[in-house]
Amino acid sequence: MSNQPIGLENDNRPVLAIEGLTVSFDGFKAVDDLNLYVDLNEVRVVIGPNGAGKTTVLDLICGKTQATSGSIQFNKHELTKMSEHDIVRAGVGRKFQTPSIYENLTVFENLEMSFPRGRKVFGALTFKRTPDVIERVEQVASEIFLQDSLYRQADLLSHGQKQWLEIGMLLMQEPELLMLDEPVAGMSVSEREKTAELLGRISKGRSVVVIEHDMEFVKSIAHKVTVLHQGKILAEGSMDAVQNNPKVIEVYLGH
Ligand code: ADP
Ligand code: MG
Repeated sequence: MSNQPIGLENDNRPVLAIEGLTVSFDGFKAVDDLNLYVDLNEVRVVIGPNGAGKTTVLDLICGKTQATSGSIQFNKHELTKMSEHDIVRAGVGRKFQTPSIYENLTVFENLEMSFPRGRKVFGALTFKRTPDVIERVEQVASEIFLQDSLYRQADLLSHGQKQWLEIGMLLMQEPELLMLDEPVAGMSVSEREKTAELLGRISKGRSVVVIEHDMEFVKSIAHKVTVLHQGKILAEGSMDAVQNNPKVIEVYLGH
């Protein structure tokens, strides 16, 4: 039995701790001995030139790509040893660059399908629409600015609204780590502002990792910025520090 007071054991431990992570594709190291730590309530933004390895890092975390070596600790789980499915169940949600919503279903149905209980029976056909499901769908819809579009078919939504719907589908599963790859690409200015507000709000009680190129947007959401270059960390810190880092200006921001 430990003498530690209950609830204090994990206080200083990051939610996500990546150490020595390497993946090599035919000898080319897309991610090279990476160390990355993300805390609870943190919004971390990963930036860097095309081909830096940003998307590959997310692929490794969510189990889509197998690491060559290194470790990815998420809470008490070692993700490098788990299947994609188990990683989702452990509380990791990942949004890809292109939205993967069901275009021929309504907003309500898309969210409902993503309710953890809904996924097991797969599909709205056999799904029991109980009051707790309805309540959760309505709650998430209002978080993602779609409370007035619940019965709209998803293909009629704007590009930005589709991106929000996909974030909502992830929120239905209450992930502890949420990863988003270029969430504001193709969004209007006002949609970007709303997305920044949304990400700030949903980072409470979880961790959010965002890959993004739009520096105005990065500035508005990042607690800390990690700059990747050739699979390695070039710089890390506050937006201000990173923006004024000569190495970062040379390989990324100067272009
Ligand atoms: P970023 O998202 O920073 O633009 P990526 O992570 O997509 O970069 O890619 C990093 C590098 O790894 C690129 O050179 C890319 O071609 C390569 N790469 C990514 N995935 C694979 C793969 N499955 N097989 C081979 N090469 C890959
Ligand atoms: Mg990418």
